[in-house]
Amino acid sequence: MLFKVIAKEELKRLFELLASSHTVVGPVKTGRDRTGLPLYAFDEVERFEDLSLDYAMTKIPAKRFFLPYREDMAVFEMRKDDWNKKVDYNMDRPRIFFGMHPCDINALNRLDKVLMGETYPMPYYIAKRQNTVIIGIDCTPRPYCFCRSMAADTALHGFDMFLTDIGERYFAEILSDTAFNFLRLIKTAEPAGEDHVLYKKAAAARNERFVTQVDTTDLMKILDMEFQSDVWKQWGDKCLSCGTCSNVCPTCYCYSVEATVDLKLTTARKTKMLYSCNLIDFAEVAGAHNFRPERHIRLKYRYYHKHRGFVEAYEESLCVGCGRCGESCLAGITVPEVIASVRSTL
Ligand code: SF4
Ligand code: SF4
Repeated sequence: MLFKVIAKEELKRLFELLASSHTVVGPVKTGRDRTGLPLYAFDEVERFEDLSLDYAMTKIPAKRFFLPYREDMAVFEMRKDDWNKKVDYNMDRPRIFFGMHPCDINALNRLDKVLMGETYPMPYYIAKRQNTVIIGIDCTPRPYCFCRSMAADTALHGFDMFLTDIGERYFAEILSDTAFNFLRLIKTAEPAGEDHVLYKKAAAARNERFVTQVDTTDLMKILDMEFQSDVWKQWGDKCLSCGTCSNVCPTCYCYSVEATVDLKLTTARKTKMLYSCNLIDFAEVAGAHNFRPERHIRLKYRYYHKHRGFVEAYEESLCVGCGRCGESCLAGITVPEVIASVRSTL
């Protein structure tokens, strides 16, 4: 890993140089919530001034730029009495993601294991992943964040360059040739001893802000023991089956596919749509049989997928502890509380 320091005005210059040849996506301010706190979202950005690099957290994760909620997998046209199929991976221009927090970077790293793995690679996801340069940026943990408990507070890979704000400058970690070559376009410097001190102070100050923790010790075993526990029914009774938790989750990837044909039978399309395992018809099959008609069973399986099945398969959780689901849940269901109740510590 290479380190550099970049003056803040030079980062602006880098943005302007790159924006002419890339689509740039980054955090922007979209308004204020009921308490007056700013709201943020990832969006395409043309001017550096529109970026909010000190953003707290976006409601919707970076995932949507790699795994859109709705995406055509193929369109069909009837030509000479036969269907002509056109596949588009919907990635026309190289893209730079300017300012992604460690939780979202780690979420993509975990999604890669499934969607770029050997068993079921998804070319639509791979095309977007391979054509996106990621510039990560440090964050200020909020009360909901428990990424540290899920080993997702620091990004070790899955980005090209990672920036830490050390006052007048950014401390940059460089992981790829692409990022190295980008930095040749602007003025940078080798970090001095003072920059190392500032970096370590920034990291320590950030660590002190984590207030929420989840005890994951032996969690797989405890989940196996508590598969029939009453706590699932208690949380299920609260759950509204709205699916919001999956929609805001940076790692939920379940989807359904819908095929539609126009009434004249001249065009058709196959569309992939992200879906939530908490929705009532998630496990409904032909003949209207539903394998998971009860709310608490659906909620339980969401937890078992993230904290049990995925851990067994990939040795890490499919939850990065971003806290988005708990913050958005209208029933007030949060991962730390559900896990604590299963451990009988709530
Ligand atoms: S957001 Fe809350 S209420 Fe809605 S499905 Fe998820 S856990 Fe249930
Ligand atoms: S389950 Fe909740 S806390 Fe975990 S990654 Fe998904 S949204 Fe974030």
